[in-house]
Amino acid sequence: MQQALINLAYLTSVILLIVGLKRLSSPAIARSGNFIAAMGMGLAILVTLIVPLSDGNNNYLLILIGLGIGSAIGLILSKRVQMTAMPELVSLFNGLGGACAVTISLLELFQYQEIFSGGSTGAVHMGKHFTTLLTIFIGAIAFTGSILAYLKLAGKVSDKHPAFLAYLNIVFLLGILGMIGYRVYAPDASFMIPWMVLSLSLLYGLTFVQPIGSADMPVVISLLNAFTGIAAALAGIVYGNQVMFIGGILVGSSGTILTVLMCQAMNRSLFNVIIGGFGGSSKKGDDDDEKVIVEATLNDVAILCRYADRVVMVPGYGMAVAQAQKTCKELDNLLSGFGVDVKYAVHPVAGRMPGHMNVLLAEADVPYPSLLDMDDANALMPETQVCLIIGANDVVNPGALEDPSSPIYGMPILEVFNSSQVIVLKRSMNFGYSGIENPLFFKGNTKMLFGDAKDSLQHLISEIRELG
Ligand code: NDP
Repeated sequence: MQQALINLAYLTSVILLIVGLKRLSSPAIARSGNFIAAMGMGLAILVTLIVPLSDGNNNYLLILIGLGIGSAIGLILSKRVQMTAMPELVSLFNGLGGACAVTISLLELFQYQEIFSGGSTGAVHMGKHFTTLLTIFIGAIAFTGSILAYLKLAGKVSDKHPAFLAYLNIVFLLGILGMIGYRVYAPDASFMIPWMVLSLSLLYGLTFVQPIGSADMPVVISLLNAFTGIAAALAGIVYGNQVMFIGGILVGSSGTILTVLMCQAMNRSLFNVIIGGFGGSSKKGDDDDEKVIVEATLNDVAILCRYADRVVMVPGYGMAVAQAQKTCKELDNLLSGFGVDVKYAVHPVAGRMPGHMNVLLAEADVPYPSLLDMDDANALMPETQVCLIIGANDVVNPGALEDPSSPIYGMPILEVFNSSQVIVLKRSMNFGYSGIENPLFFKGNTKMLFGDAKDSLQHLISEIRELG
């Protein structure tokens, strides 16, 4: 009876996780989705805490201290984190998930050691032994890989990719898989082998992520997220806990789907991302003298926008830094009042995390139908009079289409240069995240409006109001 109730609670928790995940598919209902999924996770934790009560074998004081410390750190970090630093936080949480899976597996491995030294090596134990070693391998990569991804995203580790790492990675991979295979074949072999699997996997996490270019970090974070999910699902098998297994599968599969979608959005294969080293080249061209930038005045831009049939805003990372999303909506309301058709063109990797722009624009109450995905936006560009680039850079870089030597060549971009007039709102001629120059700024139909995006938009709104 008690077991049936526990299983029912776990089932409820899994259903809440699935419903929560489903609701994340639209910004309008994503907040409630997050809440429902959190309830599901809370229920799973509660039931897992109650289970050991039945056998009287528990250690509640330690568990509660751990829960208290973990919850306090999670709460403080989540409250303090800026929206622009969210991928770093996700990466840290990812890493900790991998570390949990490794810890659980190590504890199980100690138990197997006793079983194996007692001579029992049945097929079930062999299978569990293999699963445990695999969890240590994947969880350890997710742990150190995510910590390094966090440090790279936060700019604390530079973006160097020495060629020898590719060869070292192959050696590490073969070595780890070889040791796992040997330990499963000979389970009474030295316990040094699992320790070496752990140490090499922790190292491999670092050498795997280090060569990957900084602008590919979103894909890598998503991939490591999938690894963490797979490690958690395997740990669920090892530990015999269904909710952990299903929760892990949900994270693993959604992480894998997101990774594939992001690769498609950048028109690159996962293999190319992993070995590619995209971005990081800050080379300027030799023909710098011929490059002329034209600055726009507020009055120019106000007139262009006020009398346009259609204005498309292209938000990017700079909009998030300037927290200009509500000012964008204010400009949208003003222009719409004059009969201008205002749309937002959202690139899948604009900002610093998937869906970054969608979240910010939803926060500013921009209706979902006003958001255009890349294909729809590009189709509309030739019929657009003004494109306002609000703190975007890499996602509107025509080098991705025109320059085969560009590190981002082949990545689909928002083709804003097809509109009649492009106005770029940014503070300087600094590069975007991938560290490369943007030829858009030198095109004949582009003008620069320098300054913080929010300030520039506020001044623009005042200027348009004065036009009447
Ligand atoms: P970029 O990083 O290419 O460019 C942002 C621009 O914003 C900069 O050129 C900067 O120029 C400008 N900016 C910064 N602060 C302000 C401000 N206060 N006001 C006005 N402008 C400002 O951004 P994109 O969104 O175009 O591209 C995203 C990049 O990030 C891509 O390379 C993508 O691969 C990468 N990435 C994406 C992730 C994702 O999942 N979405 C995660 C991690 C990386 P200036 O300093 O001159 O103002």
